[in-house]
Amino acid sequence: VQIYWIFPALMAMFYLVQPREAVIGAAITVATLLPAVLPANNAHETGTIFTTILVTSAFAFAFSLITSRQREQLLVLATKDPLTGAGNRRALETKLSEVVNAFRRSGTIASLVLIDLDHFKEVNDAYGHAVGDQILKRVTKILDLRIRVTDSLYRIGGEEFVVVLSGANLERAVYLAEQLRTLVDANELVPDHAVTISLGVAELKKGENGNDWLHRADEALYRAKDAGRNSTSISD
Ligand code: GH3
Ligand code: MG
Ligand code: MG
Repeated sequence: VQIYWIFPALMAMFYLVQPREAVIGAAITVATLLPAVLPANNAHETGTIFTTILVTSAFAFAFSLITSRQREQLLVLATKDPLTGAGNRRALETKLSEVVNAFRRSGTIASLVLIDLDHFKEVNDAYGHAVGDQILKRVTKILDLRIRVTDSLYRIGGEEFVVVLSGANLERAVYLAEQLRTLVDANELVPDHAVTISLGVAELKKGENGNDWLHRADEALYRAKDAGRNSTSISD
């Protein structure tokens, strides 16, 4: 009679772990139970027990597969910018608090590069919003190809991007910023019109939270704009 506990146990397994792990767990459970069930029941009862176990597991598996796919889709919707595929502002907030916590806990340094397209309104006015969108996508690709796997890219306003560099000091961040600036400058994104970016760089300081840090990078970005755009400015 105790065999009936297997049904809630199977459901719990499919609910708690990944679908594939749950299938393995279910197979092991059933194989372990076989020697106990077989001698205690006749063939008909044993057949019914294992058929119902199989059907229950199949439904639980299908349900957990659908749920885990939906969870992945939701995660993408919640953390990615739909136009460019870069991280969105929510993902940046999460990343900043992770990085700030790692710095407080174990002193892992980090830097920020804040990027804003220069005179982008003019580009939109001249070529239309659709071309503007294409440029945003191509700029994202250029930035994404150059950054390291430990760096992450976010789009946080219309034409503003952030690169978070974990484990990087100011010097490396400035080096990357200059590389990104030259790359965008060198790419002819629209004919007869230079598309450039201005950048503000800041290394995380003791006692700062994510907002303070981003604010310093923003101030540096304003200085880069003031300096005539297509330039990088540093916050020290
Ligand atoms: P600055 O050099 O000072 O940054 O000048 P700017 O024109 O880039 O700055 P401003 O903030 O005045 O304008 C930003 C423009 O970016 C306004 C809007 O036309 C454009 N923009 C913002 N979001 C999008 C978007 O999602 N798609 C497109 N195509 N354009 C956008
Ligand atoms: Mg701009
Ligand atoms: Mg802007």
